[in-house]
Amino acid sequence: MFFKNKNSDSNSGNANTLLISIVIAIVLGFVVGGIFPKLAIKFSIFGEIFLNILMMLVVPMVVLSMLVGISKLDNLRNLGKIGSKTLVYYLSTTAISVCLGIVLVNLIQPGSGLNIDLPENSNQYINESTAISETLKQLIVGDPEKEQQGLIAYNLFLAMAKMDILPLIIFSLFFGAALSSLGKKARRAIEFLSVLNDGVMQLVNWVMYIAPLGIFGLVTARIGKAGGYEGFLPELLSLGKFSLTVLLGLSIHALVVLCVLLWFLGKRNPITYAKGVATALMNAFSTASSTATLPLTLQGVQQQNKISEKTSNFVLPLGATINMDGTAIYEAVAAIFIAQLYGLDLSFAQQAVIFLTATLAAIGAAGIPEAGLVTMVIVLKAVHLPIEGIGLILTIDWLLDRFRTTVNVWGDSVGAAIIERYENKKTTSEEMVS
Ligand code: ASP
Repeated sequence: MFFKNKNSDSNSGNANTLLISIVIAIVLGFVVGGIFPKLAIKFSIFGEIFLNILMMLVVPMVVLSMLVGISKLDNLRNLGKIGSKTLVYYLSTTAISVCLGIVLVNLIQPGSGLNIDLPENSNQYINESTAISETLKQLIVGDPEKEQQGLIAYNLFLAMAKMDILPLIIFSLFFGAALSSLGKKARRAIEFLSVLNDGVMQLVNWVMYIAPLGIFGLVTARIGKAGGYEGFLPELLSLGKFSLTVLLGLSIHALVVLCVLLWFLGKRNPITYAKGVATALMNAFSTASSTATLPLTLQGVQQQNKISEKTSNFVLPLGATINMDGTAIYEAVAAIFIAQLYGLDLSFAQQAVIFLTATLAAIGAAGIPEAGLVTMVIVLKAVHLPIEGIGLILTIDWLLDRFRTTVNVWGDSVGAAIIERYENKKTTSEEMVS
């Protein structure tokens, strides 16, 4: 259901109208931004307002949806079960993505033959301690010097203010479990939180009325900022083979791998399911942020695709933060592309290190624009590639980011359907036993 109307025909009519308006907004954004870049930048205000509203909803939505989702699990053991299934799904699809990226970039060899000179100081990276353990440590305990918190936050409000989603998820997870363990006593508190959660969801429904305008503002201003077609097309073409490799990997993963998983494991028709989350996917493309898209992903998955709150409230906020299939493909392709550009041959062992670090870099990347480019430092350092390499792909990252964010959000949505099915399967068989 879209804008909670009584009549289901008008609901799907509304949903279709919205989808069409967003498609028109994106196309118009490309046309206006491409031809009149200076004028296009003036429309950025619409995009900024829209993005701010979405971001404003993220913290209440993550905390409330997690709390409600967890406290509704009737048995705490179920939390462990749904948690482990979710992690298995996330880790395996991320690993598949990295492998796909590695295979494609080795087959297509987009950077071979260009032989760029290595920067003079590139050896400085060779003696660096392994980036993997550093990153893991930072992920868990944070970096107090930079006031960065890890998974376990010492200050919850700081985490909210900085929109550090993972510590909020961890807190909500345990607090939800604690509430649920109180049994009857907590029932009214949980009902109260549940109503607040519905309220936030209703706000998301309302925000949708301005989505086409916001999305138009975001797309057109970004293309304008890139200098219109004249500004970004030459960049795109100069990195054409690289961009094609990334886009091919993203397409195979989104259209083949994830659809097959959705069909066989989730027992859902991929086309219908994709239509249900189409608004979220287009928003992901326009904002380049899984986090800003989370409210819409939750809405599409729950209201249109009818996945239970119990599953989606747990799977999606976590997925928006740690499950990034598109980013994983990108990390692998980009790192090996950079090696090829410098004419460096990577051994099998080095490619295995890329596999591990690209997985870590994708998990560690925040759901914000171009975060994947920042965490790529981990991958490059681990195999002693010059970090300057990032500069070579920087110019076109804003565009590729949009495609990989769309795949990230699609991967989370597919995950919700698959986990839902296995949760229901379990419930049905448990009911049969009792
Ligand atoms: N922008 C991506 C996201 O929000 C992360 C990345 O840069 O790859 O999902």
